Amino acid sequence: MKRVFNFSAGPAVLPVAVLERARDEMLDYKGSGMSVMEMSHRSKDYMAIIANAEALLRELMGIPEDYAVLFLQGGASLQFSMLPMNLITDPASQSVDYVLTGSWAEKACSEARKLCADVRVAATTKSVNYTRIPTQAELTLNPNAVYAHITSNNTIFGTEYPYLPDTGDVPLIADASSNILSRPVEVSKYGMIYAGAQKNLGPSGVTVVIIRKDLMGRKANLPTMLDYQALAKEGSMLNTPPTYAIYILGLVLEWVKEQGGVNEMERRNIHKAGKLYAAIDGSAFYLCPTEVASRSRMNVPFTLANPDLTDAFLAGAKAAGLVTLKGHRSVGGMRASIYNAMPEEGIDALIAFMKEFERVNG
Ligand SMILES: *Cc1c(COP(=O)(O)O)cnc(C)c1O
Repeated sequence: MKRVFNFSAGPAVLPVAVLERARDEMLDYKGSGMSVMEMSHRSKDYMAIIANAEALLRELMGIPEDYAVLFLQGGASLQFSMLPMNLITDPASQSVDYVLTGSWAEKACSEARKLCADVRVAATTKSVNYTRIPTQAELTLNPNAVYAHITSNNTIFGTEYPYLPDTGDVPLIADASSNILSRPVEVSKYGMIYAGAQKNLGPSGVTVVIIRKDLMGRKANLPTMLDYQALAKEGSMLNTPPTYAIYILGLVLEWVKEQGGVNEMERRNIHKAGKLYAAIDGSAFYLCPTEVASRSRMNVPFTLANPDLTDAFLAGAKAAGLVTLKGHRSVGGMRASIYNAMPEEGIDALIAFMKEFERVNG
């Protein structure tokens, strides 16, 4: 068996130890005689799995008691709609703020426009093709907004907030799909944090929502399946949850804990990303489009000074076992997604390939 270094933006690399554990437990989960996939979500074994996943997430992120943790379906993209649906009680008179730092932020904003008349753009860096994060001073926040929405890491453009935006009394909402658990966050500073699992938490199919309890239950007569309050009341089990995805998520959380927790993840991520950016910046052959202060530790875009060599780079990298490095079409070139589960050896192999490619083609 040969494993590659997979730099996919998502679904993305998982820790090998997690995959091995899932393999070992595949046919007979802890003596139950069945796979987790075949188990009733109401069974004792499964109730322990979902409770353990929630407890571990609470422990690793330091989630306070006055926050609910939900495991939902529909991806981070459904949260673009569920958030305004649940928090806006008077769509004609209320206002919300969005900071636009990339395509996902734009999508979140346009979904909100369908549900609220006054959606304001508190800042945007579109004019520089989203190569940087606006500073706090650049945010024109509305103190009367129902909430202010940010995308904490921009998966496509490779930028990440280097600071925690201060929104005063307005609840801060973060789409943290691509950097959750990569660094410590102070959950109490947020109204809600949400993340599709398939970047840093596990497989696709489950979305984590961490929401301050007083923000739930504000809107009456929502469709039950889209109502945070109703979902929280039933422990994310209004209907069958994505059982297997939550099980794998729990294994990933156990792995993070074993490795030393979120602080250790951050230490490694600073080190891994630092190495890769240094290799890019250290050569005129490679270019990085993003402003240094805004650079993401999770998604590293880079281009070749001679873009005609891009296809050859990608083909050579693939032959060397370094796959899914093609950049998003809106940025071009390459993008290396280096989430928690990407081992340092993967970074080293990529840097070695870059040096060799430059030596041959530079
Ligand atoms: C991947 C991604 C999404 C979309 O996630 P889905 O689960 O596919 O809906 C949204 N926001 C960000 C920041 C992402 O990286």
